[in-house]
Amino acid sequence: MSFDNSKPPFNPEELQKELQKLLKGKFGEDAQIIFSASPTDDAEDDMDGEGEVEVHEESAARRLVREFNYLPKQIKEYLDRYVIKQDEAKIVLSTVICDHYNYVKKCLESGEQLSEYAKQNVIMTGPTGSGKTYLIRNIAKLMGVPFVKADATKFSETGYVGSDVDDLVRELVHKADGDVELAQFGIVYLDEIDKIASDRSTGGRDVSGKGVQFGLLKLMEETDVPVRSPMDIQAQIQSMMDFQQGKKPAQKTINTKHILFIVSGAFTGIADVIQRRMGDKRVGFTAEVHEEEAEDYVRLAQSVDFVEYGFEPEFIGRLPVCVTCRDLKPEDLFKVLKYSEGSIIRQVENAMSSYGIDVYFTDEALEKIAERAHEEKTGARALVSVLERVLRHFKFELPSTDINQLVITPEVVEDPEGQLKSMLEGAKTNAHLLNREQLRRFARDFKEKHSIDIEFAADALEYLTDICTEQEREPIKYCKELFADYEYGLVLIKRNTGQEKFVFDKNVVQNPAEALNEWIRKSVEKAKSD
Ligand code: ADP
Repeated sequence: MSFDNSKPPFNPEELQKELQKLLKGKFGEDAQIIFSASPTDDAEDDMDGEGEVEVHEESAARRLVREFNYLPKQIKEYLDRYVIKQDEAKIVLSTVICDHYNYVKKCLESGEQLSEYAKQNVIMTGPTGSGKTYLIRNIAKLMGVPFVKADATKFSETGYVGSDVDDLVRELVHKADGDVELAQFGIVYLDEIDKIASDRSTGGRDVSGKGVQFGLLKLMEETDVPVRSPMDIQAQIQSMMDFQQGKKPAQKTINTKHILFIVSGAFTGIADVIQRRMGDKRVGFTAEVHEEEAEDYVRLAQSVDFVEYGFEPEFIGRLPVCVTCRDLKPEDLFKVLKYSEGSIIRQVENAMSSYGIDVYFTDEALEKIAERAHEEKTGARALVSVLERVLRHFKFELPSTDINQLVITPEVVEDPEGQLKSMLEGAKTNAHLLNREQLRRFARDFKEKHSIDIEFAADALEYLTDICTEQEREPIKYCKELFADYEYGLVLIKRNTGQEKFVFDKNVVQNPAEALNEWIRKSVEKAKSD
């Protein structure tokens, strides 16, 4: 059975005709698309001219490969900064990466493909959230090459339903900002590969999964993928317009021979397959106690086991390297939080610092978060959700308060809402005390400036303090607004009657203008009668 899903070659004139036909069918005979003129001779000359210059220039992509000089240990050291545990995977991957890019470098230098080399595509096993993607993403970041991740389940065999495997490679170009050459040195990561294995119990009749395996096989080996998908009408129109406008045609195909493919999956049940191959008669690894033992078996996985699991031998043959990531235990999750440079804790700290709030986590709190996350059985992924649940109300409430420090303790992890409530109440009490002192300071400043003593009666002080706390008003500024006329008014009264001390009761602070008028009226009367 052949799984050749190659497309007819792209022809702009053909596409133009097809589109006209489509439009006429839908909108009637009057509908038409106007395309700009054909390329001129000048434009063609131009294209030739440009082509010549490029031959002599080294592209950024080539320079990147030519300057590759990492040693496996240096790559592992870099990975150690981000990825906790998974030493074995780090060692194998660091070596694979060095082998691969050294080989690519040699090919570029010699201008030919060296025949004795088999590309070191990788198959990764390990539970969800153990760092499989994270390892590869960090490697790509270090290398400066584009990285694409997709789930194998989204591909269809034909490319006309769902998504086409070739899109993976086109996506690399997108990630490389259109640099096709750089895309050709990129890394493609395919997760959930175990989901496209055929079910052996049905005699391997799972045609769709098989088809995807053969599609991928071609990519992993070497093939040329058109840069513009034949299914992408917009890209085809753009291509046609470029052609019509005489623009230099960009590189049309992406060659996959130097693209590194990494496939991964949880491969539930593969330990049983390996166990059987090794002649161990015990049944199943389903029980908790056997989990670690099962992991030890998975490390021994060989191509035959993957074939037995439901993969085509040709497919597995293109994936010579097998690495395993191990389940992260609570103590590992603690280290992920505390030591990984990509820890979600840094993200939380950054988010809160935007509001001027410093967040601290005690080690005991981190341990508790790690334990909680481990219970969710989604590896390090659960750390994000556990933290989100602990912090969601703090993140909402604290930016609107004066609180600028937050310490996450085990008590906060246990009962975030209760702890937040008492923190807010405490903050309110604090704010209340502070506001009362600020009101007294207003009175003191007034005296210093005008030699007039003002005093808030107890009920007035409480009333104003409450307003400032509830409405989050700044007390001195509020008083200046409230008693704006008092500077002039009290100085006048003092001149009329010699009165130097005033008591502001609740009535005065509630009706400041009326109270002042009344005081002035009385002072004028008094001045007259004296
Ligand atoms: P998977 O194994 O399912 O591919 P990922 O690598 O996508 O899991 O992990 C999800 C997230 O969890 C990563 O982005 C990273 O933040 C964190 N993470 C997972 N494993 C580790 C690890 N071993 N060390 C540090 N962080 C990790």
